[in-house]
Amino acid sequence: MKAIYPGSFDPITLGHLDIIERASRMCDELVIGVLSNSQKNPLFSIDNRVSMIRGLTERFGNVSVDTFEGLTVDFAKSINANVIIRGLRAVTDFESEIQIAQANSIQCPDIETVFLTTSLKYSYLSSTVVKEFASYGGDISQFVPSEIIPKITEKYNKEN
Ligand code: ADP
Repeated sequence: MKAIYPGSFDPITLGHLDIIERASRMCDELVIGVLSNSQKNPLFSIDNRVSMIRGLTERFGNVSVDTFEGLTVDFAKSINANVIIRGLRAVTDFESEIQIAQANSIQCPDIETVFLTTSLKYSYLSSTVVKEFASYGGDISQFVPSEIIPKITEKYNKEN
């Protein structure tokens, strides 16, 4: 099974890494798809996001990182992946995720969406929470891997 795990990853969090680690155990190959057109004002450029994710996932032998624009199903098809992995945190995720998954399956019935439920300890965590805390100089050590903390804090220090 070849799967993609699509997202903005702006920045990658411990919640994302937890899903990546668990998904990598389920599939033969996992491609993390970094969406390049999701937000007009990302904190990190697409290249920065890709290099951070690469550094943090090279310990997994079957995980690679790629970028894409446009529809997730088109990206999946272009690399012959048959599964889309998404993480589910709360009911609020469920509503929009099920719509997207069903629309995708109408577009492309051969591609399955598989949801992994978040680990309890990361159920509150999102890239937005990380940015919110970092912007006020808060402690983000429980949110993101220590390797990327300086990269995040530097972004906000520059602004001040
Ligand atoms: P998107 O903009 O597509 O939602 P994100 O980078 O925010 O991209 O998230 C990518 C995927 O990771 C989504 O499926 C999201 O639900 C999942 N995810 C994000 N944070 C967590 C978390 N703390 N635990 C589990 N899954 C998560």
